[in-house]
Amino acid sequence: AKHGGGSNCLPYTDGMAGAVAGSAALGAQLRQAVDNGELFVEYQPIVSLDSGRMTAVEALVRWAHPTRGTLPPAEFIPVAERTGLIVAVGDLVLREACRQLASWSAEHGPLAPAAVNVNVSARQLAEASFTDRVAAVLADTGLAPHRLTLEITESTAVALGDAVTHLEALRRMGVRVALDDFGTDQSSLTLLQNLPVDEIKLDRSFVQRSAPGRAGAMPAAVLALARVVGLDVVAEGIEVPEQAQRLAALGYRTAQGYHFARPMSADAVDRLLTAAPVT
Ligand code: C2E
Ligand code: CA
Ligand code: CA
Ligand code: CA
Repeated sequence: AKHGGGSNCLPYTDGMAGAVAGSAALGAQLRQAVDNGELFVEYQPIVSLDSGRMTAVEALVRWAHPTRGTLPPAEFIPVAERTGLIVAVGDLVLREACRQLASWSAEHGPLAPAAVNVNVSARQLAEASFTDRVAAVLADTGLAPHRLTLEITESTAVALGDAVTHLEALRRMGVRVALDDFGTDQSSLTLLQNLPVDEIKLDRSFVQRSAPGRAGAMPAAVLALARVVGLDVVAEGIEVPEQAQRLAALGYRTAQGYHFARPMSADAVDRLLTAAPVT
């Protein structure tokens, strides 16, 4: 962590007091970052296990911090959520991701990813205007609603009361909803029962555990469940070929992970789309 002397550049420490002071400073810096355009979006391909083709991309926010280099979301999303800045950050990511997909489609036609997945925090979903904001972004960018998937985490969903109403309105518009990190929350099944979703994303902790017995049985069980209730499933966190093979053998069709591609710039996605298809 970088150390600076300025009032809004406190030393970053692991100590409690330091962390709190650091997060206040970071909150102030983040407010500026939003205005100064320091936040940017990377895209991680989501691929078909059959064809290897990119079916969608997940938009992942980064912060080009002026002194600390590029910060991953884990370093500032929690601050954004505490301060309410997540609403502005989330709007920015949503707008940029939809604009980008529309632009790829204009340039690459049917070779462009079919959809973009955008992460949504509880605070965003709790905004009375959330549905209208999404509708406005779709109208402004000209992106068809079915090409946007909103990823909600289980904690996002638990935290709010109006979630179902918002999600139902969005789905009536044609927007898709995915339950992210599926299986990591204690109430996964209750949420799956109560939330209007189209897709679940199997958390990478289940993908990366291959031991025989209970832990290793989860991917097959989740797939069976998804089929019964008619949901799409994406397996997250595929890092090595054996994981891709094992999931494909179980019947998974779609996956995401470092084995296929890391999150990358929009330009890098462009180059992938321009390159000859990998077979
Ligand atoms: P997530 O939504 O579960 O996103 C997937 C995270 O896993 C990303 O980390 C991605 O880089 C990482 N990942 C992808 N493939 C692999 C793999 O094979 N192995 C491992 N170990 N990791 C993999 P990233 O970009 O650091 O994002 C972390 C989290 O930050 C995201 O987790 C999401 O919860 C949050 N986040 C990112 N962008 C946004 C955003 O725009 N809004 C909100 N509210 N949250 C965001
Ligand atoms: Ca996600
Ligand atoms: Ca996830
Ligand atoms: Ca996560």
